[in-house]
Amino acid sequence: MQRALTSAALKQTNRRRIYQYVYQNAEPVTKQEIAGALGLSLPTVSNNLNDFLDEGLLSYSGTQASTGGRKPRTIALVADARFSVGISIMDDAVRLVAIDIRAQELGYQKVRRKFSHTPEYYQEAARLLENFLDRLGLDRKRLLGVGITVPGIVDAEREQVVFAPTLDLRNIPLSEVMEAFSAYPVRVENDANASGYAESWVRSENRNLIYLSLERGVGGAILMGDKPYTGDNGRSGEFGHICIVPNGRPCRCGKRGCLEAYCSTSRLSDDLGITLEEFFTMLKCGNQQIALTWEQYRNHLTDGLAIIRMGMDCDIVLGGMLAAYLEDHLDRIRQEVCQKTLFDEDGQFLTLDCFKSHSACVGTALHYVERFLSAF
Ligand SMILES: [Zn+2]
Repeated sequence: MQRALTSAALKQTNRRRIYQYVYQNAEPVTKQEIAGALGLSLPTVSNNLNDFLDEGLLSYSGTQASTGGRKPRTIALVADARFSVGISIMDDAVRLVAIDIRAQELGYQKVRRKFSHTPEYYQEAARLLENFLDRLGLDRKRLLGVGITVPGIVDAEREQVVFAPTLDLRNIPLSEVMEAFSAYPVRVENDANASGYAESWVRSENRNLIYLSLERGVGGAILMGDKPYTGDNGRSGEFGHICIVPNGRPCRCGKRGCLEAYCSTSRLSDDLGITLEEFFTMLKCGNQQIALTWEQYRNHLTDGLAIIRMGMDCDIVLGGMLAAYLEDHLDRIRQEVCQKTLFDEDGQFLTLDCFKSHSACVGTALHYVERFLSAF
């Protein structure tokens, strides 16, 4: 038997529906449109709107006089009424992104800092955040929370980084990170999981998705119907450590022949003493040695992608630092993956990250936005 909503619960439901209606409309709406669309009375809509206007969450988007008289005023979302921050900790840099509640970027910064697991490093990262907020002129009272990503497996329940080979961490408690950022709500998560979450946010609903992050470390995330699938031990999506060459190159995880050993971006940069940008410039200019290295890299990458596609049968997004350089190479990669799988004729299931190198920051910041939107 369905229980009748209490008057307080009904009030809350109306409040949520009204806010979400305005949120979902890209254009400002009138009071009458809200009432009509949601089947609510005008006084109910007016009361709720007054509360939202007082709280600064919605605003009038200007009075409109027309020749035929006054048009009803329209109401719009104040997208930056709240914001959240995502910080991506990498071995050689810290990236920061601030987003509003429509996931629009308010600011981005990348700062070169060598990682070290010390209180001084985390305090420096917290100082970078304060400078970032100052530079953007963002009011800390509106800050919903700070998400932090690391390139490793995070056990949120036990509050520790279980394993992060690129940062050389094993079973490290998160207490020092949490303490450095204790001025704000804070969460720490795996970078690829956060990136996958950002991708699923912008794509059509209820899609299954694999996110493959190609950085110095190769990581991944699995989203089933938009929900992260983290596995029984929080270790799902570790595609970087699938063996693609038995007894092959040593991997930083201690095993041999892993996808990461062949598809780390180091293979195209650090190992050659050049940057990724230089690699792809030289490739474009027709450098033969670089072309050969790229062919070998692509061959291993498409081996890995074919395994993932055959096992998971869903869309795959290529992300991480490498994705920014793949636009000209995507068709070739698609063709080669299709040659290695049983069922695929075109490679449209394979796409590039929408947020380029920002996706982990955006994804982890989005959790606070989602929490805010669902808390009405
Ligand atoms: Zn490995």
